[in-house]
Amino acid sequence: MMIRLLLVVAFAMLLAAVSQTPASAVKEVAPGVWVRMGDNSRNQPANAGWVIFKDYVLVIDANFPWGAKEILPEIRKTSTKPIRFVFNTHYHGDHAYGGSVFTEQGAQIVCSMDCGAESVTKGQAGWDRNTATGAFSLKPYKLAHPTITFGDTMAFDDGEHRVELRLMGPGHSKGDAVAWLPKERILFTGDMCVNWNSGNNVADADADHDNWLRALDRMAALNPATVVVGHGTLGTASDLRVQHAYLADMVDTVRAGIAVSKTEEQIAQSDLTRHKIGAQKDRNAASLKAVYRKLTK
Ligand SMILES: [Zn+2]
Repeated sequence: MMIRLLLVVAFAMLLAAVSQTPASAVKEVAPGVWVRMGDNSRNQPANAGWVIFKDYVLVIDANFPWGAKEILPEIRKTSTKPIRFVFNTHYHGDHAYGGSVFTEQGAQIVCSMDCGAESVTKGQAGWDRNTATGAFSLKPYKLAHPTITFGDTMAFDDGEHRVELRLMGPGHSKGDAVAWLPKERILFTGDMCVNWNSGNNVADADADHDNWLRALDRMAALNPATVVVGHGTLGTASDLRVQHAYLADMVDTVRAGIAVSKTEEQIAQSDLTRHKIGAQKDRNAASLKAVYRKLTK
């Protein structure tokens, strides 16, 4: 009897381990528009979303494969319509590597042309370099590259919902694009905007920090009511300004340091912790170094 009880408890714990997305992480931010907030503690740091059109579902950011496997059942709780498209804001693994979980369901991956090119070069190389084992191994999966790409813009519109994909890069990467829902005034920014306290990855080989700042101005001009950032909590237009202030301070600090012949190490010591998203000194130091290398290349 005791053994049977233990088995039941163990099975219940196993079930809990399979579906760990807390209900509070999934929100309907407007009718038919859902977000699923990332969870850094389980290596699913990126936020994701989906829009339920009349005939299909459009997913925004595929997450890592183990994240996608949790997002899929969350989508299924909200709609039985086919998942036809997955728009990735950029090619980085935490946003794009889970694509095959959705292509196996019949979806196609959509991103900007530059993002598509990055996926087959830097994205594939990063995938091939990955040697993680265990729960975060990529071995059981394959990298699904985009099969639909666009230049400046692309729109999904069925009269009920409209989602405009807009190229904003180069910024955080070369092919960054955002999803803009003009009716609901919701903006999905990918990693061009974050509001967690770990800052951004600014070290992509094709990052363009000055253009990134201009892109943040363009996004702010849309005056979104809701901003779904790449990492962090559900935001508003003010997060775009906070992100702009942090990045501008970083770039200005590096330029000022270079102007007075400071070394990379000296510049990396600059204090940016007054910014909420720059609360982590070590992350700031890595970012300052990356901007330094970019500007002195
Ligand atoms: Zn990211």
